[in-house]
Amino acid sequence: MIALMKRILGVSGVYRGRIVAAFVTSFLKSMFSKAPLMLSYFALAAFYDGSADKGLCLTLGIGILACLVLQIIFQHTTDRLQSAAGFMIFSDMRMKLGEHLRRMPMGYFTEGNIGKISSVLSSDMVFIEENCMTALADMMSYGFSQIIMLVFLLCFNLWLGLAALAITAIVLLFARGMRIDGLKKSAIRQEQNESLTEAVLDFAEGIGITKTYNLLGERSSLLTENFRESCRSSIAFERSQTPWHMALNVLYGVGAALLAFVALTLNGKGLMDTSLVIGMMLFVFDVFGPMKALYGQASRLTVMNSCLDRIEEVFAEKELPDEGKQSIPASADAPEVEFRNVSFGYTSKEVLHGISFKLEQGKMLALVGPSGSGKSTVANLLARFWDVRGGQILVRGRDLREVPLRELMNRISMVFQRVYLFQDTIYNNIIIGRPDATREEVIDAAKKARCYDFIMALPDGFDTVVGEGGASLSGGEKQRISIARCILKDAPIVILDEATANVDADNESYIQEAISELCRGKTLLVIAHRLNTIRHADRILVIADGRISQSGTHEELMAQEGIYRDFVSVRSGATGWNRRRA
Ligand code: ADP
Ligand code: MG
Repeated sequence: MIALMKRILGVSGVYRGRIVAAFVTSFLKSMFSKAPLMLSYFALAAFYDGSADKGLCLTLGIGILACLVLQIIFQHTTDRLQSAAGFMIFSDMRMKLGEHLRRMPMGYFTEGNIGKISSVLSSDMVFIEENCMTALADMMSYGFSQIIMLVFLLCFNLWLGLAALAITAIVLLFARGMRIDGLKKSAIRQEQNESLTEAVLDFAEGIGITKTYNLLGERSSLLTENFRESCRSSIAFERSQTPWHMALNVLYGVGAALLAFVALTLNGKGLMDTSLVIGMMLFVFDVFGPMKALYGQASRLTVMNSCLDRIEEVFAEKELPDEGKQSIPASADAPEVEFRNVSFGYTSKEVLHGISFKLEQGKMLALVGPSGSGKSTVANLLARFWDVRGGQILVRGRDLREVPLRELMNRISMVFQRVYLFQDTIYNNIIIGRPDATREEVIDAAKKARCYDFIMALPDGFDTVVGEGGASLSGGEKQRISIARCILKDAPIVILDEATANVDADNESYIQEAISELCRGKTLLVIAHRLNTIRHADRILVIADGRISQSGTHEELMAQEGIYRDFVSVRSGATGWNRRRA
């Protein structure tokens, strides 16, 4: 429990002082809440002795009243100090986590971690922010009350105090067992929660396919099974805690009875006045009250602990190092992009082996090769979505890892086959390219990307909301918006990864025009399967099985036997067929 307090303090950042202040006020509140009980005890003892007089009664009355008032004041101060702190702490923490995720290599997001990230950011964070401050307040207040009770007993009678201490020690030991068991079960529950989140995301994302293939029943039953499993693990967790709680309650009862027994024995031996024994009976069943209340919350605290574990796990994942301080030179003799003997693997299996090439400023390099040969990987490494395993990638002679990520990202625009538009207006989706652009510049970029006409035909023009649940655009239209974004960004290096794949013929010519606008005067790395695009490249690299197998211009490569010539003969057939159809 102290460990949990420390952990919460550890994550509380700038709000730490506030929480520590709340510790103090909470302690004072506990003192003043227990004081009336003790004062009443003295009053009772005095009445029994016959030593009570009017003055004493008055003093006691005023004392009890004062304690009540002080208790209310300190309670209120504690609440004020703590109430908003939980939300503030975890709002800061969400931002930090967001920043952390932004710095993670792309690989982190594709390794089945999406469910974990979602459930950490949503359910774990929400649970903690809603519970941590009340839990902390309760822990402090009950903990202090218990200590005050024990100290009072010790001062009052050493034997009684020692007996109470012994019982407390047994309860603490027992509670430790309960906590360890609870943590284990709670971790299982949390994992189940994670896979539930993943299942829900998967179901929602694949709903189109699920419907068209008539899999609704099957897929929903998978989801339902996950819901059931989640319910089962929650119940199992609560059930596993019940026997512990019951046993603890028995312990408190036995403890209180033991104290009464010690008091009576002492009285029998003439070591304790009957008046004191009667006074003691007044609160003997309350001696372990605070501890009982505290451990009554054990399951909540255990869940908090494992939520914190998982939040820490995500924080512990290594970020893509961003320690580079060097700028990319404004001009250099070195090539704009250079790969030097680059090797890489997503997993232990290497997918690129010793790739080397140079790309001069303003030139176009095309990558071709069979699917799965490693073309997209080359592009992703240039954008530093991952770091190379061996070798070096240089921009104007500067290793990518020496350059701040932000600067590198300003240098590179990427157009992918799969376009992602945010659920926002078209205008906002384009201005992401350069947030300080003017409206005229955004419109100009849209015109260059051949989007203007179709945007103006939409009900709200540039203010039409697209993305999930928004206006539906064709694949080609979305692609042109993403190109407008890049045109606005105006980065000197442009990477096109199969930007025109999966686009119908009508759209293709527009996209080609948009791409030509984007590429004017830029250094280009193009992964394309259209012969028209490839043949204009200054140099073509043929990648096979993660190695460069051929390199040269279209004419040079056509003059050689090899993958390229085979590839071209197949493509020309396909293009011819396309042309006939168009
Ligand atoms: P291409 O673009 O030429 O089709 P890729 O560069 O996408 O090929 O893939 C090269 C190899 O790396 C393939 O074997 C592919 O399965 C693997 N691969 C691609 N992306 C990942 C990833 N995120 N995690 C693990 N393996 C991947
Ligand atoms: Mg690819």
